[in-house]
Amino acid sequence: MQIMTVSTYTQSDKASILFIYTGGTIGMIENPKTGVLESFNFQHLKDNMPELKKLGYSVSTIQFDPPMDSSEMGPNSWKDLVDIISANYHRYDGFVILHGTDTMSYTASALSFMLENLGKPVILTGSQLPIGMLRTDGKENLITAIEIAAAKDNGQPIVPEVCIFFENTLLRGNRTRKINADHFNAFRSYNYPPLAHAGIHINTIPPRSIIQFPVNR
Ligand code: ASP
Repeated sequence: MQIMTVSTYTQSDKASILFIYTGGTIGMIENPKTGVLESFNFQHLKDNMPELKKLGYSVSTIQFDPPMDSSEMGPNSWKDLVDIISANYHRYDGFVILHGTDTMSYTASALSFMLENLGKPVILTGSQLPIGMLRTDGKENLITAIEIAAAKDNGQPIVPEVCIFFENTLLRGNRTRKINADHFNAFRSYNYPPLAHAGIHINTIPPRSIIQFPVNR
């Protein structure tokens, strides 16, 4: 597996986010001949998400090449992710990892222990429907994950830990479990309350902060 830096949108006075695309359903596209979903590269994702540019952050992207189904992710890919985050730690305000949902909880748990003394947000997200589909949950998940990764309160990141954001809820990464392959609401945290809910505002629980839109950068 190769790791490639794909693109950078720079807006120097804004929050800077490193976006790491590993694969999963979110980036898939239906093969018109066979009807089978196949992995696609980050360019496909970008073409389907003009909103990324509108967010107004400095977003750099690194992608796994080829993108991986999350059933193939394991200790080697966790190490690759840790290496990417450590090498770029001081250059970015936060990190967003796009990941297949099947093993997202395992990766989030591993990263939470591997990234010692983490002081910045590492938010994993993905989707149940590919980003090119009309009813995709991917856009909402991705945009809000980036907003959360960029959010600060008095200059401090609001959630400096490894989390999963999915279907309006921010969960502590190493407490999560995938519970559903059909519903958009696919993750639960049974032994720890959600860290935040995203509605019109993103409310942290307990109410440490409310991330207003547009986000306080
Ligand atoms: N099989 C996919 C994966 O985990 C499912 C998904 O992304 O939801 O990579």
